[in-house]
Amino acid sequence: MSLDNNTVVITGAAMGIGRAAALCCAEAGGRTVLADIEEAGLKETFGDIHAAGGEASCQVVDVSDARQVEALMAGAVEDFGRIDALINCAGILEGAYVPVDELDEKVWQRVMDVNVRGSFLTCKYAAAVMKVQQKGVIVLLSSGAGVRGGSSSVAYGTSKGAVHGQAVVLESQLSPFGIRVHAVCPGGIATPMKLRNIAQGTESQGGSPEEALKQAEAYLGDPEGVGRILAFLVSDQAGHLRQTVFTR
Ligand code: NAD
Repeated sequence: MSLDNNTVVITGAAMGIGRAAALCCAEAGGRTVLADIEEAGLKETFGDIHAAGGEASCQVVDVSDARQVEALMAGAVEDFGRIDALINCAGILEGAYVPVDELDEKVWQRVMDVNVRGSFLTCKYAAAVMKVQQKGVIVLLSSGAGVRGGSSSVAYGTSKGAVHGQAVVLESQLSPFGIRVHAVCPGGIATPMKLRNIAQGTESQGGSPEEALKQAEAYLGDPEGVGRILAFLVSDQAGHLRQTVFTR
């Protein structure tokens, strides 16, 4: 599998699945455009790719801000001439273990802004470039939490259902332009988001977060496992794949 001469924009690249996807895309020869709101982690991913001989650029971006997302895509075109793929990993999980009748409306809105609006904005500005190229791949990070149920957060689960819907709608809208769109639903993956969520859930029930995190090591997946799938999905070799992909 090769991403030689491919430019891949990856949001949420400072940590977790986004960082793993960035490293896997770079390892496959892709030029990576890294974006995240967390500057320190972003620079670390950028530094690691450079140290391994990869080509990358990075930009601090809040995916819920239209002007920043527009500038991110414009910067990718300026630096590398095109955008072959977008992998939108930026996301937040808030409002976990709060019953719906107690959920703060501001928390609800924040989750929708980052997860749903962020997916919309990154698609909007990447699709504009890809339509001109008549080629591209868009991968949105949804979750079983919003497709199969079982989320600890009403806001998060709902947002991930919306992201899945967005991917399905965009697939038919953009396929005439040679653009493939996928929703990826990872299982439980050992990222800062997931580990925080497990610790919080155990604590809320009076249990020991340390013990819960130790047990979680046995059943959580490795971010790199999903990173490799994401890198494959944006490659030409995955050209026959369609729609939603569920991972471990
Ligand atoms: P994570 O918290 O470890 O990483 C998320 C990244 O997004 C962080 O680097 C964070 O700084 C960035 N981010 C947050 N808000 C942002 C914003 N406004 N603008 C730009 N960047 C922002 O989470 P993760 O587990 O790696 O999750 C990545 C994606 O995968 C998310 O969309 C999440 O919903 C999804 N997902 C994760 C799991 C899992 O088990 N970890 C399961 C299903 C789906």
